[in-house]
Order: sequence, then C-alpha cells, then structure tokens
Amino acid sequence: MKRLLSDIGKNMLKLREKYDIVVVGAGPAGLAFIKTVRKENPHASILLLEKYSYPRDKICGDGISSLVPPLIGEIFPEIADKISKESLTQKYRIWYPSGECITKLSPPLNVIPRKTFDYLLWTATVDQSIDVLEEASATKLIFDECRAIQGIQFIHEKNERSVKADLIVGADGSNSIVRRQTSLSPRYENGIIAVRQYVKGIPNIDDGLVFFLDPDNIGYFWIFPFKKDGERWANIGYGTKKSNLRGKFYQWCEDPKVKEYLGDGILQGTLKGFPLNIINSRFAKLRIKDAIWGKGYLLLGDAAGLIHPYTGEGISAALLSGKIAAELYNKKLPMQQLGKTYQREIINVLQNFYALIYTSKLYILPCLIPPPWRALYVKILSWIENRKPY
Ligand SMILES: Cc1cc2nc3c(=O)[nH]c(=O)nc-3n(C[C@H](O)[C@H](O)[C@H](O)COP(=O)(O)OP(=O)(O)OC[C@H]3O[C@@H](n4cnc5c(N)ncnc54)[C@H](O)[C@@H]3O)c2cc1C
Repeated sequence: MKRLLSDIGKNMLKLREKYDIVVVGAGPAGLAFIKTVRKENPHASILLLEKYSYPRDKICGDGISSLVPPLIGEIFPEIADKISKESLTQKYRIWYPSGECITKLSPPLNVIPRKTFDYLLWTATVDQSIDVLEEASATKLIFDECRAIQGIQFIHEKNERSVKADLIVGADGSNSIVRRQTSLSPRYENGIIAVRQYVKGIPNIDDGLVFFLDPDNIGYFWIFPFKKDGERWANIGYGTKKSNLRGKFYQWCEDPKVKEYLGDGILQGTLKGFPLNIINSRFAKLRIKDAIWGKGYLLLGDAAGLIHPYTGEGISAALLSGKIAAELYNKKLPMQQLGKTYQREIINVLQNFYALIYTSKLYILPCLIPPPWRALYVKILSWIENRKPY
C-alpha cells in the first residue's frame, strides 16, 4: 500500500514536528538515497518533498548509459525487469564538422523518457514508511546561530510550512535551493544549458545514439532515438555554454545530415531548457570546488554538481551519490566524518566511471584544437576509432 497524498487525500498527511531526514527532490538521487537508507534503517523518520506531482517530466536527453542498469539492479532490484528494453542499442555515432564520423560499439545504451523512468524509481521507493508531499516546494533552510541547519520551510498548497530535521538532503537538481542557500558561491559557475524536444515518426536508421559535435560553440546537438507505441521517436537537443541556445537548436534542425535522421518526423510539444551542473575537471582529474556537505546537510546528484563534464551524463552519478551517501548514513557516522567520506568516495568512484581521458579525446579535444589542425586530428581519430571494438 502506498502512502501517497493523491491516494489518501491532500492535507490529510499529518507531518511530524521533526524528522530524522528530509529529502528535497524525488529525482534519481533523492529516491536512491531513500531506498538505500530504508534497506538497513527501517525506523528512520523520512519526509520527501517534491515540487511536482508524480509522474512528472524532467528535461533530459533520456539517455540511459551502461553505468545505470547495474545501479538499478543494486538499489531498485524489484524494477530491474520492468525497465523497457525496446530502445536498447549498442552503438553511438559522433559526427564532426569536417564531415568525418566515428561509430562506436558500446555496452548497452537505452533511451527511456524520464517521465517513465523516474516513475519506476518512484513506485519502487515510496511506501507507507515515508511521508511524501508532492507539489511541495522547498523555499528556505532554517539555520541556528552556528550556521547548522535545523529545518526547512516549504510551500505546499499555497501555505508556508516548516519542519525540523537532523539531516536535510539536497537532491533538488541543478537549481538546488539547498545548494544555493549553503554554498559560498551561490551561483553555479560550471554549468551549461541545454534544450530538448521530442520528434515523432523518424526513419529507421540504425546508428544508435547520434551526436553532432559543434566545436566552435563547445557544444553538441543530439538525436537519441526510442520506440513508443510502435513508432520511432527521438529526443533531440542542443547544449552549450554559449548563448542563443534556441536559435542554434533550430539551425541544427535544418542541417542536411540531421534532416536525414529526422526525416518526416514531427516535433512534439515545446522546446524546453534546463541547466546541467557539470563537475570541475582539470587534466582529466575531477575536482569539487565547494564542499557538498555541511552541518546538517548533504548534496546529491545535480545539486552537488556531479554531471560528466564532456558528455552531460548525470543519471548514473545521481544514483551513485544517493547510494553512497545513504550507505554512510546507515553507518551512523558523525556528520563531519559522514560528509568528508561521502565527498571523497563519490569523487573516487566517478573518476573511474567517467573515463575522462577517453571521452575528452572524442568530445573536448576537437573543440580545443584550432580549425586547421582539427580536421586532421578528427581524420586520424576516426580512422583509429572506427577500426577498434569497444
Ligand atoms: C537537457 C538535458 C539533457 C540531459 N541528458 C542526459 C542524458 O541523456 N543522460 C543522462 O544520464 N543525463 C542527462 N542529463 C542530466 C540528468 O538529467 C541529471 O543529471 C539527473 O536528472 C540528475 O538527477 P537528480 O536526482 O540529481 O536531479 P533531478 O532529476 O533534476 O531531480 C530533482 C528533483 O527535485 C525536484 N525539486 C527541484 N527543486 C525543488 C524544490 N525547491 N523543492 C522540492 N523539490 C524540488 C524536481 O522537481 C525533481 O523532481 C541531462 C540534463 C539536461 C538538462
């Protein structure tokens, strides 16, 4: 039996005055955290605040990398078989401006609209043992005189409410309110913005996930095909640090190569954008500039700025951060030890997972090399890469 507000009637949930944990945000990070805490800690009192009502959309490329299924198997074993495999592919193709392209075989990649994917995680997590408030938007952290967090304020059904908590978990995405109110540098400096839209009825071209690199703007346009109701759809989008995102997105839609992939496909809904908080990296080494924990709080997933710096992948890091943080929480460590260990472990694991040297060769170096040399580099790279399996 689920204890969802929608089931039992809004306003009927009687909140505690104080919780052990308040999780802000029901994306992959927040849900992975709760699910992992519950495995060993059935009695911790947990409140989950989510801004929207589930199932909710999330602006994303919907690309599920090969790092994700093992994490789902560990954290949410009951839904591992429910994840659709109809859009699975084992390749991706990168097009460079010179007209060269690289086709890579890959461990399985999937494309699943986040509305569907996140809802599966939600159904596996939310049950009677946690208090859940949908359409509850966190607005303000409550600090004591030592800057330790005591609780949180939020708006629910136009009413301002607050609860106290021993731990606030900021899993509220790239625009995280928990991050902005705890960080020394409230504006996230390392972000890029991307827009995406769906297309219905695209031709059946077997290239897997497709990227068009745009080195002059340090960005890329993507086409991630998937199947829905017997038809071929694609999630298409464009991301860059630079401006005029929408203009560039529509320019890319007119590119002759892109048009081959989209055929007579029809754009659905509206073009929507959202920031991606990417992780800092220097010489292929990941670094976190500001602490992702403090007195009474932890940041997870995009709120912690953990997105892959070159590919924009972030679902795996969100799941991982939720899992690692919760396992440490379950050990009942003092806050300082919990926070420090969490920050160290997440960086170490991502450093291995993100394969920065390899991905920089494909996505970033072509952007940094001046155009006269770029074409030669890409020619040699594609010659080498097209000859080897993954
Ligand atoms: C355009 C775009 C394309 C992307 N493509 C890919 C891709 O193809 N593959 C990939 O792996 N990653 C991709 N990413 C990154 C990926 O979307 C994120 O890394 C991932 O969603 C992070 O999960 P999360 O749980 O940390 O945050 P989110 O998934 O953003 O979840 C945060 C949750 O918090 C809620 N929330 C926000 N503010 C509040 C508040 N004040 N109070 C209460 N709740 C709140 C939100 O409603 C949301 O449910 C893309 C991102 C963008 C923007």
